[in-house]
Amino acid sequence: MNYEKLYNKEYLQQLAYNEQNNHKKLVAKIKKQKPKQFDYMMAEYHGEAFEIFDCLKCGNCCSGLGPRIMAKDIEKLSKKLKVKEQVFIDEYLIIDEDSDYVFKSMPCPFLGCDNYCFVYEQRPKACSDFPHTNHTKMLKHISLAVKNSSTCPAVFYILEKLKEDFLFD
Ligand code: SF4
Ligand code: SF4
Repeated sequence: MNYEKLYNKEYLQQLAYNEQNNHKKLVAKIKKQKPKQFDYMMAEYHGEAFEIFDCLKCGNCCSGLGPRIMAKDIEKLSKKLKVKEQVFIDEYLIIDEDSDYVFKSMPCPFLGCDNYCFVYEQRPKACSDFPHTNHTKMLKHISLAVKNSSTCPAVFYILEKLKEDFLFD
C-alpha cells in the first residue's frame, strides 16, 4: 500500500467507499471476537499506524470533522484565550442539530496552515480522543472506526490490518 497517497482526502474517501462491503463483513466478524483480546489487537495496530502516519502531514480530522465541544472544553479554551466563556461561545461556537456545541465553521479556527493546533494542550476531549482506535471496549467502537476510515489514514490502515487477520487469513 502506498501510505503517502492516503493523506489525500479525496483518494482516501474513494478507497473507503470502495471498501464498504469488506468493511461490513469485517465488522460482522469482529463482533464475534473476545473483547479484551480485540482491545490488545487494536492497541497494537493503533501504535503501528501512528508510527507510519504523521498528523502534521494530514489534518483531515481538524479540517473536516466538527468536534463536540463540552463544558470542560469551553472552560479550558476560554482560559487559554483569556476571554470570558460567553465571549468564547459567541465568537466560535454554534449549537448543532443534536443540541451540542460545535465550531461555527470548519476547518477548525485553531488549525494552523502547517496543521499545528494553536490550542493543542487545551484541545477539546473529542479531539484528543480521535480517531477512537485506542480505547477499551473497542468492539463497541468498530463501526465508528469504519466511518472514520474515510477521513483518517491511520484508521484506514488499521482496518486493512484487521482485514488481513479476519477476512483474508
Ligand atoms: S482544536 Fe485543535 S485538535 Fe481540535 S479540531 Fe481544532 S485544530 Fe484540530
Ligand atoms: S488523527 Fe487521523 S485524520 Fe486526524 S490528523 Fe491524525 S492521521 Fe489525520
